Amino acid sequence: MNRTVATDETKLTQADVQKLFQDAGLKMTNQRIAVYREILRDAARQFHPTAEQVYEGVRGHLPAISLNTVYRALTSLAEKGLVKRLSNFTSSDIYDGLLTDHWHFICTRCGSIQDIFVESGNFPEISKVAGSIEEVVVQFRGVCHECGNREKSRTPSPSAGFQGVLGDQ
Ligand SMILES: [Zn+2]
Ligand SMILES: [Zn+2]
Repeated sequence: MNRTVATDETKLTQADVQKLFQDAGLKMTNQRIAVYREILRDAARQFHPTAEQVYEGVRGHLPAISLNTVYRALTSLAEKGLVKRLSNFTSSDIYDGLLTDHWHFICTRCGSIQDIFVESGNFPEISKVAGSIEEVVVQFRGVCHECGNREKSRTPSPSAGFQGVLGDQ
């Protein structure tokens, strides 16, 4: 199943949201809609929030909402496939409103997560050897450009001499 969702929250009318919820068989509640819109806003700027971060954002519109309600809304949205719950990325689960196929690049320095769009191709060999593939999970870990540039500009010159000594061995 490949549901494509307009990730620009500002372009999503209430009728669009109603249709998405209806198609997913999910009852519309103010809380769920607020949580969903928050995740779409985050997805548009490649931000993958934790439940706590969603809660912080939603509280601006619905001050009375509880963290527990946000958890429950996230669970329903994830179960119905309107958002993706990503485990094994950070110590807490994070959520992604971008449902089109994409992978993630995680910076080991600042923890930022970028959406990566690469052909995932098909894996006929793996299917033959191991079984039918339902999902491909790929994580790229490394140093983002911002952190890379910061580290480069900070490199002290004496270390170059030190490395030079090691290199001669
Ligand atoms: Zn970084
Ligand atoms: Zn993503």
